[in-house]
Amino acid sequence: MNLPEGVVIHGREPRLGGPEWTERYRGAVMNTFGDPQRVLVRGEGSHVWDADGNKYLDLLAGIAVNALGHGHPAILEAVTQQLQTLGHISNFFASAPQVELAERLVGLLGGEGRVFFANSGTEANEAAFKATRRTGRTTIVAAEGSFHGRTMGALALTSKAAYREPFEPLPGDVRWVPYGDADALAAAVDDTVAAVILEPIQGEAGVIVPPADYLAAARRITSEHGALLWLDEVQTGMGRTGDWFGHTPSGVTPDLVTLAKGLGGGIPIGACVALGDAATLLGPGNHGTTFGGNPVATAAALAVISTIESGGLLEATRVRGDQLADGLSLNARVESVTGRGLLRGVVLSEPRAAEVQKAALDAGLIINAPTPDRLRLAPPLVLSEDEAADAVRTLSTIIDEVLA
Ligand SMILES: *Cc1c(COP(=O)(O)O)cnc(C)c1O
Repeated sequence: MNLPEGVVIHGREPRLGGPEWTERYRGAVMNTFGDPQRVLVRGEGSHVWDADGNKYLDLLAGIAVNALGHGHPAILEAVTQQLQTLGHISNFFASAPQVELAERLVGLLGGEGRVFFANSGTEANEAAFKATRRTGRTTIVAAEGSFHGRTMGALALTSKAAYREPFEPLPGDVRWVPYGDADALAAAVDDTVAAVILEPIQGEAGVIVPPADYLAAARRITSEHGALLWLDEVQTGMGRTGDWFGHTPSGVTPDLVTLAKGLGGGIPIGACVALGDAATLLGPGNHGTTFGGNPVATAAALAVISTIESGGLLEATRVRGDQLADGLSLNARVESVTGRGLLRGVVLSEPRAAEVQKAALDAGLIINAPTPDRLRLAPPLVLSEDEAADAVRTLSTIIDEVLA
């Protein structure tokens, strides 16, 4: 790895093993996530290592975040140079990487528009949610199975009752529709609806792909009623599906697009992109953030975008994604492989995904189990052919062992 001159990485050799760190974690970190599966100490490319020296092929990439894998030199260099130059300013001031990134995102979305930068997916959605309120309407139509984040606003639009109910009352008049059903959407949208929020592919629900014409129908329905089409691309955006955005193949132009996860390649950043007339819904004093759009995070995102372009990673993502899907589909205990590019759901013939996930981890593969019968794969976009072949071989063997 080529570090910029004068930069030293301070090695932090773990003195303790996983069990000791886990014990300290329990005492010091709020128990919102349950016990950690492992304590990780290092990452390189598509691999990470735990505190006990075990190596893992990372097929989850920090939940669709580490688009360029771990320790990619382009991000390291962008962040290091930016920190050496100008690390943080307030939003009383502008910086070049912030402006450049806004221009790049609007350009990739192929429209005229403006960006509000945040630090996470849920915050990107909060900004969009507030923008919808400026239409003078308050009703939002959201889909069953949706996940939009954990802050109070985004949570109001997240379908899982177990996440929402302990925190009610939540903001909003929310109408729920079954995902992928254009007729149900048409029936739910009228002239009082401010916006329809949809994921182009539902990630947390287990990588659910809607019918091919669904987003086009959603665009037509929202336009007919003067409602905004708000696409949550936090998980599907920035190359994850083999296109820049999950909605790209649909050809629609949404009004609001929210981004985070892969955008910064591991550096926290979120963005709410508003296209067309939606770009001016939020005005002076309507919203704010201290860290959002800071020079370091925006420089990292610019490095991610230029590496995806220069490395041909959209094409690579399609090829590797098909390799994973084709390989895993050969397993008789796999009902189907859903998704596109490197966002994949593996539907098992029995609801034993949690056991498969655990066995995979023990065998050195990081995946997750978003539902009882589905595994999710969201590896780095730089996953190599050999790594993908290794993933198929190992995961297929484990599925056979667990479901035998
Ligand atoms: C992860 C996710 C979010 C929330 O992002 P955070 O950065 O965890 O706040 C929102 N929407 C979708 C579709 C997501 O996958």
